[in-house]
Amino acid sequence: MSPLRKGVREFQDNVYPDMKVLFEKLDKRKEPHTLFITCADSRIDPTLITQSDPGKIFVHRNAGNIVPKYPETGSSEAASIEYAICFLGITNIVICGHSHCGAVAGLADPESIKHLPHLVNWLEHASETAAAAEQIDPDSEESMLSLVERNVIFQLEHLSSYPIVSERVASGALKLHGWVYIIKTGEVRLYQHSSGQFEPLSGSFA
Ligand SMILES: [Zn+2]
Repeated sequence: MSPLRKGVREFQDNVYPDMKVLFEKLDKRKEPHTLFITCADSRIDPTLITQSDPGKIFVHRNAGNIVPKYPETGSSEAASIEYAICFLGITNIVICGHSHCGAVAGLADPESIKHLPHLVNWLEHASETAAAAEQIDPDSEESMLSLVERNVIFQLEHLSSYPIVSERVASGALKLHGWVYIIKTGEVRLYQHSSGQFEPLSGSFA
């Protein structure tokens, strides 16, 4: 049996029975409080790192946790943002980057991905990150982590370009959060809008 089929069997036999009441409740309603935008990287598990039960976070993933700038009306991400805000009524949006991000590495070294035309096209939505990458040493782990942080900040700016986002942020109905998750240590660093720096996350935000 493939690992996935084995996992489904284990879920049905050992996990679902303990969560049956929750899943029956979720069958009729969902009340996520947060739209969580993160990278498609297999090492990130949004519900694991936030210890969120099913139904609590609405997740959109793509290479590089990129948000195409408004008006990018044809993107699936614009649709997710619209649905999460206007239909689900979420009150937080997190953009979560991570250490050793392959997409950010590709932005720093375009030669390494030039044979991947769809990825190259997608990463054009992160042109500011690509420009910032020209100023750093791609062999420095610290510099690359700093580029991951800057990418999150650029994507927060893109997110704010959506009128439905900026209007709700201005009214206090929506909060935007920039995170960077460090895979090796499990640390999550939170962007502080006041200082422009990322600092270790403590306490709750929702
Ligand atoms: Zn990544």
